[in-house]
Parts: sequence; structure tokens; C-alpha cells
Amino acid sequence: MRIYRCPTCQSDIYFRNLVCTCGQPVEFDPVQDQFHPLGTPCANREEIGCNWQAPEPGALCPSCATTEVTPDLYHPDSLGNWAASEAAKRWVLIGMYRLGWFAPGTPRPVFKFLAERTSEGQVHVTMGHANGVITINIAEADPVIRTSRRESLNEDYRTLIGHFRHELAHYMHWVLQETPQFLTAFRWLFGDERADYGSALKQHYANGPRPDWPQFFITAYASSHPHEDWAESVAHLLHLVDILDSAAATGLTLQKSGAPSADPYLQDDSEALITQALDYALAANHINRSMGLQDLYPFVISTPARNKLAFAHDWVRLPHPPRLLQQPL
Ligand SMILES: [Zn+2]
Ligand SMILES: [Zn+2]
Ligand SMILES: [Zn+2]
Repeated sequence: MRIYRCPTCQSDIYFRNLVCTCGQPVEFDPVQDQFHPLGTPCANREEIGCNWQAPEPGALCPSCATTEVTPDLYHPDSLGNWAASEAAKRWVLIGMYRLGWFAPGTPRPVFKFLAERTSEGQVHVTMGHANGVITINIAEADPVIRTSRRESLNEDYRTLIGHFRHELAHYMHWVLQETPQFLTAFRWLFGDERADYGSALKQHYANGPRPDWPQFFITAYASSHPHEDWAESVAHLLHLVDILDSAAATGLTLQKSGAPSADPYLQDDSEALITQALDYALAANHINRSMGLQDLYPFVISTPARNKLAFAHDWVRLPHPPRLLQQPL
């Protein structure tokens, strides 16, 4: 993620900031990709701390406007969980803007944010994507709930940002499948996504992943169905681009692989990008261990999995991405 400048004092300001250390309240303008002094705040600013600018007074920002269903706020944790979920969505959407998504005239994703603990009692919420509609379970914002699910599913990594990248990858497939060359190339590499999804997932959860999955897939879950392989691959590609973008923003340079390009979102060379991002990820893993923390990027990538990341990189950068948005989401 980029590090921005305070419009008043020019010091560093971070993507999630509502106020600069100089005291200036600020709002993020996703069209100009910069912070302004507070002027036209998102209508959700007070309630959930959204720091984006709205197109007009009293309106929602382009990110909050994609939320078609807001959660039941009966449980006292739900407001904070919703706020954290919207913050992760903003983080992921700005990366997609930079790859050229959400240009005028393209289909937009919409979100349903649902709580498990509602005024009607406990309900089951399944996260997923269908025809441009993404359902998010806001309970995943709770670190205790998320960690216990990560453990029970035997995952190395589970975050809100990961969920948004995964579900938006399904949305990207839904948009890209209109391009015939995409589907042909996709099926050659990932297999036929028309295979029965319901029974594939049932089989995955009943019997576990195929034992040789690390040789072919980025994660165990990716081995469950071509759609999930794509979603996991795209999410990882987006993670790696963001790691490089953050390294570039902080001025980090690894001697062995050189400085990241100023804007990794515009880099064309898939192989060079993946190699460099993995170098930076491994360096960050080593730094995290100095504090006894979990690895930043706890994955080993086989050649077939890497080829899928390169394919994802070729397709998720839309042709001629506009440097700045012409129109908000
Ligand atoms: Zn300032
Ligand atoms: Zn907002
Ligand atoms: Zn999925």
C-alpha cells in the first residue's frame, strides 16, 4: 500500500488514517488517489470510521456504496466487526482500482455483510460470490473466531483482506469469462470450471484435499475445484503485488533483488514481479520471526502454482488501466 501525504503538513499519512498527527482531519479521495482536508465525508464516517470522501454531502463513499446489505447490529461486537470488514474492503478495492477495474460501463460488485449473532438468534452465514454479489460474514473480523476457524480448517493464513481478495477474484472471473480467449486459456491451466461445484466442495470437506496438493496448488483449498484454484491464485497474486507496493512505499530495498518498481501495479513482467515479491516476502518472514510473530507470507510455491499466479497477473491487469479513475465506483 502507498503511504500518502497530509494535505496540511505534508508528513506521512496512512491509508486508514482519519486524522493526521498534526491534528488535521482528513478524507481519502479514491478518484485522485490522495488525501484532502475533511470536506465531504462519507456518510458512514461517524458510525464505522470510514475515511473515504463522498461524491456529494451526505452521500456514501464509492466503497460503502457497494454494500447493499449492512449487518444486523444487535450484538455489541457487530458494529466493530462491520467497521473492520469495510476497512478491509477499502484496502482491497483501491488495489483493484490501480489494476484498472471498475472503469465506467463495467459491472460492479455488490456486497452483503451479514452477522451470525442476530436479534433472531444465531444464524449460519456462508461467504461466497454469485453473479457479482459477494457475501461476507462479519464474524470473521473477530480475531478469536477467525483464529479458531483457521485452526479447525488447518489453514496457515486467514485474514479479512484475504477473504476480500478471494471473493473479488471470483467476481473477476465472472467478468473475465465474457472474453472467450480467457476461458480457453483458463481451462487449459486450471481445468474445467463447469465441473460440479457442490459435490467437489462436499468431497473436499468430507475427505480433505488430495495428498499431493502442494506439488500443484497454492493452497489445499485451491485443489477443491478450478474456481477455488483461480480465487486462491488471484488472491495470492494480489497479496504479492501489495507486499511489493508496501516495500516501495517505505523505501525498502533488498540488495539481492534490487528496489521494487515505483508502481508494482503497473509492472508487466509477471516472472520478474513474482520472483521479486517472493524475495521481499521471505525477508519479511525473517523479520517477523525476530518478534516471535507468524510469517508474513507462510507459503511455498511450486512451479505449477507459480504458473497460475503468472496467468492471473496477465489477466487481472485490465488493458490500459486508467492512471486515475474517471468516475468513482
Ligand atoms: Zn498533517
Ligand atoms: Zn465510506
Ligand atoms: Zn471461493
